[in-house]
Amino acid sequence: MSKVFLDEKYIPDRWYNILADLPMPMDPPISPFTGKPVTFDEMKALFPPQLIEQEMSTQRWIDIPEKVMEVMRLWRPTPLIRAERFEKALGVKSKIYFKYEGTSPAGSHKPNTAVAQAYYNKINGINRLTTETGAGQWGSALSVACKMLEMQCRVFMVKVSFNQKPYRKSFMRMFDAEVIPSPSEFTNAGREILKQNPESNGSLGLAISEAVEEAAGRDDTNYALGSVLNHVVLHQTVIGLETKKQFELINDYPDKIFASCGGGSNFGGIAIPFIKDKLEGKDVEAIAVEPASCPTLTKGRFAYDYGDVAKLTPIMKMYTLGHDFEPPAIHAGGLRYHGESPIVSHLYHEGIIDAQNVHQSDIFKYGIMFAQTEGIVPAPESAHAIAAAAMEAENNMEEGKEKSILFCLSGHGFFDMSAYDAYFDGKLEDYEYPEEAIRKSLENLPNV
Ligand SMILES: *Cc1c(COP(=O)(O)O)cnc(C)c1O
Repeated sequence: MSKVFLDEKYIPDRWYNILADLPMPMDPPISPFTGKPVTFDEMKALFPPQLIEQEMSTQRWIDIPEKVMEVMRLWRPTPLIRAERFEKALGVKSKIYFKYEGTSPAGSHKPNTAVAQAYYNKINGINRLTTETGAGQWGSALSVACKMLEMQCRVFMVKVSFNQKPYRKSFMRMFDAEVIPSPSEFTNAGREILKQNPESNGSLGLAISEAVEEAAGRDDTNYALGSVLNHVVLHQTVIGLETKKQFELINDYPDKIFASCGGGSNFGGIAIPFIKDKLEGKDVEAIAVEPASCPTLTKGRFAYDYGDVAKLTPIMKMYTLGHDFEPPAIHAGGLRYHGESPIVSHLYHEGIIDAQNVHQSDIFKYGIMFAQTEGIVPAPESAHAIAAAAMEAENNMEEGKEKSILFCLSGHGFFDMSAYDAYFDGKLEDYEYPEEAIRKSLENLPNV
């Protein structure tokens, strides 16, 4: 059987919280203002109480509210598919499965958390959210979620993407969101940068600063983040919980799990329910795949760092390339954030998961091969996982092994065709971020 569709009754009704099962506790987030662990009250300026509780909770299973389930039923459960034509084209014997999250309204895994975050704000009387978006996927997801829950949404979109990705903007407008190029004149953080450089193209770290500043300054508005934080990873565990059920139905189990890693949420989402098994003795490996030009886990440092440029967010213990880090313009595959989810960072530091980085020539080569065999145009982000899974299958072949490989196809690439065009036109070069530059941007880590 090459496709495993689940009945609606198998949509998970609880999220799995790995904080309940970690062998070693995680270091707490630190307030940038007091230098002490962030308190519940400090977080209340930005987030509703249920999300703050989830951020800190060590309760193993957390019920998913019925209203969130009701919206998620629009696209969940998502299919698990065996990529048989892709396997054939690669000439491998290992089985390659993928969990396809591109069937959601925004075309990625991100609505899984967007809906939950919007819901908890809504029931606390908050009717307006701000956020940032880089490539546009998170802004799209939150726009959809806010519309479904009858809320307003303002998205600060990194200016370079605002100009390069007009259809992401159109998508957000379709769901009545307000899309503002960042840096903007709406915030101190934005005005400050514009004063220094009116031509600034913006960055994700700066757009976060703008969205946070506005939410912190308005009683009617909260902030929502699309990755990195514990509660985001928690909400994404629906991916892995469904996948486990699907493997049960076909009497198989993955030996290796690959997922692309930007902030870590689709990786955590698919891998963490399997890591629960691993912590109980099961033989399974999870590998986070990142770009060679933004190698946070594989070349960054495990240290406390800021989440944004203006140093407004809590200081988190995570793998980081430094909050000043900017990936090179030549890099086309997304996953540009300087930091990494503290949960994923912790798992990596403890040796429970693995990580690898891939070059963009491989990302596009295998991504296109996947499209041509399986008929799905992958998001360049997702193609990181495709490339790593394909190379694993090829290595298995050389070693005479047959394994079950699983990867997360975190989204489709219909809005990313300009990146593919750059590849077709021979404009993409491989780029390994130089050690020296990383050392330099790590000099500005906070003293905690
Ligand atoms: C945002 C995004 C990612 C990277 O974010 P994570 O939090 O690491 O999952 C990967 N793939 C797609 C399709 C995305 O939209």
